[in-house]
Amino acid sequence: MHCDCDSLPAKLKPFEQALAELLASAQPIQKTEHVPLKDLPGKVLAEPIYSSHDIPPYDNSAMDGYAVCLDEQQPGTNYEVVGTSLAGHPAKVSLLPGQAVRIMTGAQIPAGTSAVIMQEKVERIGDHIQCCTPPPIDANIRKQGEDISSGQQLLPAGHLVSTRDIALLSAVGIGTALVFQTLTVALISTGDELVEPGASLGQGQIYDSNRHLLHAMLVNLGVQVIDMGIIADNPQTIRECFLCASESADVIITSGGVSVGDADYVKQILSELGSIDFWKIAIKPGKPFAFGKLGDAAFIGLPGNPVSAAVTFDQLAIPFLKAMAHQPPGVNTKLSAVARVDFGKKPGRTEFQRGFTTQDAQGQWYVESAGKQGSGILSALSRANCHVLLTEQSSGVKAGEQVEIIPYQYL
Ligand code: AMP
Ligand code: MG
Repeated sequence: MHCDCDSLPAKLKPFEQALAELLASAQPIQKTEHVPLKDLPGKVLAEPIYSSHDIPPYDNSAMDGYAVCLDEQQPGTNYEVVGTSLAGHPAKVSLLPGQAVRIMTGAQIPAGTSAVIMQEKVERIGDHIQCCTPPPIDANIRKQGEDISSGQQLLPAGHLVSTRDIALLSAVGIGTALVFQTLTVALISTGDELVEPGASLGQGQIYDSNRHLLHAMLVNLGVQVIDMGIIADNPQTIRECFLCASESADVIITSGGVSVGDADYVKQILSELGSIDFWKIAIKPGKPFAFGKLGDAAFIGLPGNPVSAAVTFDQLAIPFLKAMAHQPPGVNTKLSAVARVDFGKKPGRTEFQRGFTTQDAQGQWYVESAGKQGSGILSALSRANCHVLLTEQSSGVKAGEQVEIIPYQYL
């Protein structure tokens, strides 16, 4: 039977399907390690963290002033000062009605205290203080456990530790935590024509831009990068490099060598060493894409054209890497913007065009083209600050119409 259902557009994998297949095959890393507090931001907890303390651990003063004991029958305004409580040096007294202790912010509240009166509200005469009105009960006292109680879960397993969590963890005395090991990504550029920036350029050569952009994006993502450099289009070199990468990395990312009719050896070696599918995705820029396994490592082969590599990495590889690293998917914020220019397109592929977006005082977003839309135009990528998202079926957007944009997050 002839089934034509997938043949329009000819055998291309829809972008959403490619993304779903990538995410479905992501196996989050299971290796864990104990990491000291200072290295926790950006790490993902492998187990929940509970507090073994009340925070604050004891009632303490929110003010510099006087802790007083009211006579509840006859609340007074005169008190005898019988001691001093400093932060770290609690007064060893129990207050009786009519007594007070000089107290500083953070110092432990003596037993018997009804309230703390801030020092600006009292007059001190010798060993006595006088205030105008009796303070309300518990005024200016930070109560034991009012923030966190002992035994309380502070953060769940799977939580991505933020910088602001560090104060919380320190406050309950956490010195190390069990986290998932940082995802390790081996990064490789393929191509005989590629030269490292800084070296001189020979006839027929270009500088490797993909690896450096991808490296920067991987650093933004918080993964550990093994930079394997440029490999020549030579079967033995490619084989050795891929085998070495598959032993040391959780994920291998290459660019180049996966397009149709490529003369180099990347596709051949990948097929020989691993289980790799070569996808043609209905996405522009960036149709060719390789995905599979090399040994225990996941493998992603990005297209060689620099803007294609950037867009497919941003929209396909990053969600996969986040899933592998236990990072929450996060927001791929889509905003609706008014197109300032026509964005041309033919139906058939999801397009991520380079846009430059601005917002007016009323909060309305506008987007213009960041320049030429070719898959090798790096000046437009540099100028852009968002993807202009044109869906597979769309045949373009006219100036003045609404269009979806995705502000760059990792680019
Ligand atoms: P390929 O997929 O290897 O045929 O490469 C497609 C296009 O991308 C060619 O013009 C390559 O020269 C270019 N290209 C491949 N890798 C890189 C790279 N790392 N940096 C810049 N351009 C590249
Ligand atoms: Mg190549």
